[in-house]
Amino acid sequence: MRKLFSFLLIGAMAMGMTACASNAPVKSNEAAATTAEAPAEAPAEAPAEELPLIGVTIYKYDDNFMSFVRQNIEKAAEGKAQLIMNDSQNDQAKQNDQVDAMIAKGVKALAINLVDPGAAPAIAEKAKAAGIPVIFFNKEYPEGTDKVGYDQAWYVGTTSAESGVIQGELITNAWKANANWDKNGDGKMQYVMLMGEPGHPDAEARTKYSVDTVVAAGIQVEELAKQTGMWDAAKGKELMETWLAAHGDKIEMVICNNDGMALGAVEALKAAGYFAGDKFMPVVGVDAIPEALDLIKSKFMAGTVLNDAENQGKATLELAVNAALGKDVIQGTNWVLDETRAVRVPYVAVTE
Ligand code: BGC
Ligand code: CA
Repeated sequence: MRKLFSFLLIGAMAMGMTACASNAPVKSNEAAATTAEAPAEAPAEAPAEELPLIGVTIYKYDDNFMSFVRQNIEKAAEGKAQLIMNDSQNDQAKQNDQVDAMIAKGVKALAINLVDPGAAPAIAEKAKAAGIPVIFFNKEYPEGTDKVGYDQAWYVGTTSAESGVIQGELITNAWKANANWDKNGDGKMQYVMLMGEPGHPDAEARTKYSVDTVVAAGIQVEELAKQTGMWDAAKGKELMETWLAAHGDKIEMVICNNDGMALGAVEALKAAGYFAGDKFMPVVGVDAIPEALDLIKSKFMAGTVLNDAENQGKATLELAVNAALGKDVIQGTNWVLDETRAVRVPYVAVTE
């Protein structure tokens, strides 16, 4: 099990970047603007090189995990593409308008994080009419990207079930190692489930496979409550408060489809006196966002699953650039496409 290795990587990368910066030749827009060929008007806007213009939407900027995917798309685009970034504010109609506007601006490819996973064919239709390729990412069309009705559409994400299985294994190992977590001693794990957005393949698969994996490992379970917290910390906190009021210490495990909701659940638990003295509650999530890693280190969370925002952002950008240039989408990369035209970045278990 690889543990928290991404910290080391991030540290090494930061050092590498500092070293590069001090050696790099000085290059600025001003220098370019003062050359004889530079256009007289608006010199600051003249691009130094002809990078392909790519139109990106994020379903909402106000999503913990997607903010990391967004940063990694921007980082990967440096020197490779010009981006138009859009916050779709969790509104599919708004996203449709943003796509129209980007097409009108002449983007060479689209990179779309859908609001509604079911809207993929409608967006693909727009891209097809404009004759440009589209890379969907993070929200997969439930029937598969090969079914959106456009052969110039691809997907970058994960194998959703994998995160559920890894989370289930994590729960199994922890449960078996901690006999006192069975508070009422009935040999069953009484759990509550905070689900992500209904209809989102990640949410559906995590909900199913986390519990299936625990059951397959021979642990008896009883579901006390299950509801959607829409991936959101505030909603996770609210639901956890409600469930604590209804079930209190009958709850023995809090399973969350993502870390955002786990952060909220931990807030509610802290406020109810958990994690002080011997009042404890195991909480597990998915994503490995920095706040969750902190909670794991301080033992407020029992584990999470690394959802690799860095590689998902990088793959999205790389496929979009290749597609924009009319190349094979995976040319010059290490990514592979499955039979649904999807690149699937692996998940990794993270415990203390
Ligand atoms: C992440 C969630 C995120 C969702 C957005 C999932 O893969 O685990 O944290 O909210 O994607 O679509
Ligand atoms: Ca029990």
